Amino acid sequence: MEHDHLTAMLNRLKLTAIRDQLDNLVDEAARRELTIREALSLFCEREIARKDERRIEMGTGLARFPFVRDLDGFDFAAQPSIDKKQIRELTGGRFIANAEAVLLLGPPGVGKTHLAVAIGRQAILAGYTVQFVPAPTLVAQLAKAHSEGRLEERLTLLGKPKLLIVDELGYLPFEPNAAHLFFQLVSRRYERGSMLITSNRSIGEWGTVFGDAVVATAILDRLLHHSHVITIRGDSYRLREKRRTGMTTSFPRWVHRDPPRAASPDSWWSLRSARVPPVHYLDKLLQLSLGATPLNLGVQVLMAERVRFRTPVDTLH
Ligand code: ADP
Ligand code: MG
Repeated sequence: MEHDHLTAMLNRLKLTAIRDQLDNLVDEAARRELTIREALSLFCEREIARKDERRIEMGTGLARFPFVRDLDGFDFAAQPSIDKKQIRELTGGRFIANAEAVLLLGPPGVGKTHLAVAIGRQAILAGYTVQFVPAPTLVAQLAKAHSEGRLEERLTLLGKPKLLIVDELGYLPFEPNAAHLFFQLVSRRYERGSMLITSNRSIGEWGTVFGDAVVATAILDRLLHHSHVITIRGDSYRLREKRRTGMTTSFPRWVHRDPPRAASPDSWWSLRSARVPPVHYLDKLLQLSLGATPLNLGVQVLMAERVRFRTPVDTLH
């Protein structure tokens, strides 16, 4: 009877860990000859541990990361252009507390999404709400909401997470209306919540990505005001690994070549216009081809080709 009463009270207070482990906790307190104060402290610790675990589990589910990656699994030696200290600082989450933006820029396969996920997961551990969204999905959501007259609702929703990660901006060019919608999102979050954006395009190319240099400038103006810009200059980790294990032998000979070497530090940005078949571009296709059916792989290739040939050569540097 007394036990039932206690269970009912623990239920009402939502102290589910204490409720579930009650007998063990009481035994442990007795065995260790804890004072009442010490025992209470032990009980609270267990409850907090359970609540943290649940919060992290739920927060991670809601964030919708594409894969599980942590900083421990990131090989910094393979990417010497990255300042390890700067990344570690970002995982501390201060940029989120200050509502600052992070731009992770670099060619495909260098670990931008990996780092974005790692930073996002750390942010959840630190108690922040996080949402991860691929740029094309985000744009589609905004366009749909706009056409249904529910843009405001969607912007409010996207304004909620403390950190919004927008992945792979620039693989597909935006429609003009999409650029305006994205601008509204950036304005909404400006100085209120952090954004982490990964892109395979240099900032100078964002005019092309958004299809409108004026909107791109307005977007960048807000993003760069309080920001951390990290540019990764290196080879695709995936291709490196394949090369290391000899898996590229079945690809055409030109795949083995290194990407066109930098005459200017930013020249890899213009891979799409390079005369050498672009290794990074191929890497992206390989990435898309994983798990694809022949039909949708064909569509992906066509879309990638469309991007490749519709995008004017860098004019904005
Ligand atoms: P990007 O987003 O820049 O195209 P990803 O982050 O998707 O690249 O990286 C591609 C794959 O290679 C992922 O599985 C990622 O975990 C792995 N990867 C990339 N860079 C590294 C690295 N430096 N150390 C460990 N794994 C890496
Ligand atoms: Mg990526």
